[in-house]
Amino acid sequence: MLIVKKFGGTSVGDKERIFNVAKRCAEEYRKGNDVIVVLSAMGKTTDELIAKAHEINPNPPKRELDMLVTTGEQVSVALMAMAFDTMDVPSVSLNAFQVAMHTTRVHGNARLKRIDSDRIMHELEHRRIVIVTGFQGINKYDNYTTLGRGGSDTTAVALAAALHADACEIYTDVDGVYTADPRYVPKARKLEEITYDEMLDLATLGAGVLHNRSVEMAKKYGVQLVVRSSLNDHEGTIVKEETNVERMLISGVALDRNTARISVIGLKDEPGMAFKMFNLLAKAGINVDVILQSIGRESTKDISFTVSRDEADAAVEILKENMSRIGGKSISCNREVAKVSIVGAGMMSNPGVAAKMFEALYNQNININMISTSEIRVTVLIHEKDAERAANAVHDAFGLEE
Ligand code: ADP
Ligand code: ASP
Ligand code: MG
Repeated sequence: MLIVKKFGGTSVGDKERIFNVAKRCAEEYRKGNDVIVVLSAMGKTTDELIAKAHEINPNPPKRELDMLVTTGEQVSVALMAMAFDTMDVPSVSLNAFQVAMHTTRVHGNARLKRIDSDRIMHELEHRRIVIVTGFQGINKYDNYTTLGRGGSDTTAVALAAALHADACEIYTDVDGVYTADPRYVPKARKLEEITYDEMLDLATLGAGVLHNRSVEMAKKYGVQLVVRSSLNDHEGTIVKEETNVERMLISGVALDRNTARISVIGLKDEPGMAFKMFNLLAKAGINVDVILQSIGRESTKDISFTVSRDEADAAVEILKENMSRIGGKSISCNREVAKVSIVGAGMMSNPGVAAKMFEALYNQNININMISTSEIRVTVLIHEKDAERAANAVHDAFGLEE
């Protein structure tokens, strides 16, 4: 069997944790399996490196930022190989160059395009554990790129897909995927299974337990994932196409604080305004999420939408520069907002799910700014101060607790 095992930052946070991972992987290796280990940077290393960059330059060149943060993963893989060495387990650490993990050009948020399997296969044939840096890639200019925060999950899934692995296991600091982030919803319950589609929505809407692109890729290539703890042997959560468990109405609640609401007031009420505005943002690579258009005064209209908080300044700047073209009167930006979403395939065939969510918020006297829905999710934008109370109330209302 070929097994890909990915360990996140906390799981390799210090010496003890590194040896814990090494032992788990060595056990697998000694059973005769081929093992690829994908690692994140230790603990909070990536955050610290980004902070260091900003001490030197508040707006660091993206190429250089990638050059810096990719060092984090390189430290982890080298230390892991040293740990295996003390255990007389043959291993080799490889970075994105050595494997050749090709990505798109863009820095900070590149997409994996192709992985060369030759080097890894060669090492496996020599019965070595192969330890690969997560999160990083190289582009066609031979520069380092990164896959976006949390991107090591995607490295693992991509390797599992490219090498047709028999299993892809994502080890983290919780026992699996829960009905909500157990850090702020104490009653959250671990799910045995979840579908790719539900997991993709949860991940995209703020459940940071998996990088959303890793789920997208797992679905595309049919890679079944297991999310489980690196610190115990509890069974984790299986992420797959169809689940066998009786379908619940809602499988989870997600909370995302990384959002800001931008409102453009007094746009001309004529065809093409939304196109012009969102096209400007799209060209700048800014992702727009919830959108609300309303009738303004004197045949004008107002459009509000959300973007991730780190892109809010850039979005406002672009729109201000182009105010005369789109004809708006004013722009405002509110960063004190959060998105709370419910996700579940069960809501497709059950009317009244959204109403139930709104009732739970009403009972808590929480005001809703914006609403957006799809077949399997409902998202509301609320004041950030209400975020955790809202998530808990909604979680309770749908009876998701143990
Ligand atoms: P790693 O470093 O292992 O990749 P992350 O911090 O990226 O770990 O992801 C694990 C964290 O995701 C958990 O500690 C948990 O707080 C958070 N999380 C958010 N939503 C969920 C959820 N629905 N289920 C489980 N964990 C979640
Ligand atoms: N180290 C990277 C991050 O913190 C990638 C990862 O952990 O998946 O975002
Ligand atoms: Mg992660």
